[in-house]
Amino acid sequence: MQRNQRMFWLSVLGFSSIIYMVVALSKFRPNNVPIFPPPETEETSVCSTSTLATTTTPTIFFITPTYPRREQVAELTRLGQTLLLAGNVHWVVAEDSDTCSPLVAALLTRLGLPYTHITSPQPNIYKEAKLKYNPRGVSSRRAGLSWVMEHQPEGVIYFGDDDNTYDIRLFKEIATTKQVSMFPVGFIGIQGVSSPIVIDGKVVGFSDDWFAQRKFPVDMAGFAVNLEFLRSRNKKANRAMPYKAGYEEDVFLQNLNLTLEDIEPMASDCTEVLVWHTKTVKEK
Ligand code: UDP
Ligand code: MN
Repeated sequence: MQRNQRMFWLSVLGFSSIIYMVVALSKFRPNNVPIFPPPETEETSVCSTSTLATTTTPTIFFITPTYPRREQVAELTRLGQTLLLAGNVHWVVAEDSDTCSPLVAALLTRLGLPYTHITSPQPNIYKEAKLKYNPRGVSSRRAGLSWVMEHQPEGVIYFGDDDNTYDIRLFKEIATTKQVSMFPVGFIGIQGVSSPIVIDGKVVGFSDDWFAQRKFPVDMAGFAVNLEFLRSRNKKANRAMPYKAGYEEDVFLQNLNLTLEDIEPMASDCTEVLVWHTKTVKEK
């Protein structure tokens, strides 16, 4: 009898250990989501586009990922007013949402800039994977670039997040981009600035807080690309930015078969900071 009882408790213990291991393992299993999603998982739609105002050429297509939150309209008001001063910008505002925010739509109409307002929600496979590091804004940059590549013959593209700070002198500089221009970005990591290293007018390397295995350790706000050059290097550049936090810029640029010789240093040979990676404190 006693022996049977012992056997019983031993098997209960064995069984629960197996269950515990299965549950624990499934928790720590790496998320196997592809860094490039199946095409049908990305849904995007154009809410409104306006070219009532004209820009001086070349036009800078300023692609801004944004998402609904308390700070959204404040961020976009500040950024939109900066873009008005720039004078040569078509603002592509891409919302990580199923619908276009009416407040953002009203702001865009009010500003009178040439603009395109689109929805570009992050595909569910990434939302559900609950990744440790969220590839924020990738669906919007891909959708914004898709719109530009489909509708615009020429110009310069720039990925400008809604919370950064832009000196209006930056726009004059990047308007001259023939291939890929690069320049310093302030407030990146503990180093303070992320920048290409320039010797005799040529980019010879990079200075960044976090190199990892990246060939181009630059921030999203630290480069601009000429649209014709983009097309000549990669007709599918709109699908080149990966859903992989930390590697968005590097993989995108590598997919243009970029070499250091192709890069045009701006901002007085990368000695000036004309854009800062500022962050707004979030409140509930
Ligand atoms: N963003 C987004 N969806 C999100 C979080 C962020 O579209 O769920 C946008 C955000 O508006 C910004 C960009 O992606 O333009 C980068 O996000 P954030 O500024 O939060 O990231 P950080 O600059 O801290 O890397
Ligand atoms: Mn930011």
